[in-house]
Amino acid sequence: MKKLSGIQVSPGVAIGEAYLLDRSKICVIKHKISEDQVAGEIERLRTAIEQSKSQMQDIKKRAGSISDKYSIILDTYTLLLEDDILVNETIENIEKELLNAEWALTRTLDKFTKLFNNINDEYLKAKQDDLDLVVHGVIKNLVGHEQESLSDIDRPVVLISHSVSPSDTILMPRQFVLGMGTEVGGKTSHVGIFASALGIPAVVGISDLCQIVNSGDKIIIDGIKGEIVINPDEDHLQLYQRKQKNYQHYQSTLLKEVDQPSQTMDGHPVQLMGNIESSHEVKSVKRFGGQGIGLYRTEYLYLGNTDRLPTENDLYQNFKEVVRAVHPCPVVIRTLDIGADKPLPGLNQKSEANPALGLRGIRLSLTNPDHLMSQLRGILRASLYGKIKILYPMISSAEEVAEANRHLKKAKEDLREQQIPFDEDILVGAMIETPAAAISVEHILKEADFISIGTNDLIQYLLAVDRVNENVAHLYQPFHPAVLATLKQVFQTAEAMNKPVSICGELGGDPLATFLLLGLGKIHELSMEPHSIPKVKKILRKVSLGEARQIADKALAMGSAEEINHFILDEMRQRFPSDFDRDSAYGEKNS
Ligand code: PEP
Ligand code: MG
Repeated sequence: MKKLSGIQVSPGVAIGEAYLLDRSKICVIKHKISEDQVAGEIERLRTAIEQSKSQMQDIKKRAGSISDKYSIILDTYTLLLEDDILVNETIENIEKELLNAEWALTRTLDKFTKLFNNINDEYLKAKQDDLDLVVHGVIKNLVGHEQESLSDIDRPVVLISHSVSPSDTILMPRQFVLGMGTEVGGKTSHVGIFASALGIPAVVGISDLCQIVNSGDKIIIDGIKGEIVINPDEDHLQLYQRKQKNYQHYQSTLLKEVDQPSQTMDGHPVQLMGNIESSHEVKSVKRFGGQGIGLYRTEYLYLGNTDRLPTENDLYQNFKEVVRAVHPCPVVIRTLDIGADKPLPGLNQKSEANPALGLRGIRLSLTNPDHLMSQLRGILRASLYGKIKILYPMISSAEEVAEANRHLKKAKEDLREQQIPFDEDILVGAMIETPAAAISVEHILKEADFISIGTNDLIQYLLAVDRVNENVAHLYQPFHPAVLATLKQVFQTAEAMNKPVSICGELGGDPLATFLLLGLGKIHELSMEPHSIPKVKKILRKVSLGEARQIADKALAMGSAEEINHFILDEMRQRFPSDFDRDSAYGEKNS
């Protein structure tokens, strides 16, 4: 038996026989060509690239129903195929070195791989995997390699592979894929997005996985802990079978309670809302009992469209669809938060040494007033069809809110002039995700009706820890004393000004943090990934505010994140052993 640790990207436990798909071995032969073969070789390269593009488009058509984010990834792949550097560099290799197209392309890929290896950036490193996948697709077309087809799978299996390409995911008979394990990929890789959209347990990022596993091996994918077990002994097999059963049972009991009121034991209501990135996700917010959309990340509407930016009318139609679907519950629409980890070619083209501190969020919108205007007009027009609130991202001063509001005022005046109706009382909120915003929240709240705390960025900026850099991941501590003190200060100020507070960062959806957050101050709303809503609701319904305050006061008196982490984990384990005791959760400990 062997146990390997990786990155959990889709929860659940899968047990089955391994189906090993080893895509790492395409044999590329180098040969010199003559001058008069150059044109033909370039033509072969172009044809293979065009073939890859149409394969991508074909996959995209079939992928549309899975998830918007997934279509976006496929667009990124198509963009890579159109990349001038990639194509021109390869053509140059053919022309100058007189190399065959396959070898010339391999040379280009090697050069990029070396460049990527010198970059210490998790986000860009993930792009290397994408490039690798795309280039290998073209090489396969060049050599006329028949893809080993996953459509041949005709029995339940656990898929093990170096990587899983978009075409693999589309072709595989999903009813037979119990779980997935791959060598490459990170939290945001398309395997994870695909697997979680379909509820398939998956673990990624285990190097040499394909060397260790053989087809037919018994495999356990533990998507809860992020582990893969190969050929378990009988005791372990039983243990994981129990864990699987208990996890399924746990999920179904949580779902049974989605209609219960979301309030504390002593009757204080807290709205539990969903974070969404596309209109398709409204369904899951409803399924998990969300009381509206607390954060609509609109940037995916832009990232998903590679040909042009969405127009006012596109935005209006999309927002109208969402607001109608959640009516009578509210929708908080965030204006574009492009930049840093979400660059958008066409809007913020300048490269920046420190994009996280650069032209992103509201800063970018304020330098593109025409564009901001079309967003605001789209939102206002849709506000006629339900309850919409506007949210500005990456605010670092009250002036920014005031300036954005001046654009909003102008948008309203124009609409009135054009006799286009909208909700005159639409509320405006500011995201609190920079230390400056947290410290000057009193001034910000003079310009805004509500605030929503973006803990993902707030923690990154407060602790000076890049939220996507694995080298400092151990320093990204949501329970750091500085974070708790900042949150408390923000809550107190907002309460004194009688303005509502929401939390829409990951911390809001972490059931481990629910007691603590409630005890730190008055929260009106927690917004999170839809599947977290039932777990948070369960915890919320079992605490009184007095009790939560006691816990928060104890945590606030502690001097280190480690101490607070232990304290909270112990408290929660005692109260909710089946939810928080990771070892005994779902029955694992009783082996
Ligand atoms: C946040 O920063 O907490 C947040 C919700 O915004 P995003 O994750 O989109 O940056
Ligand atoms: Mg943010």
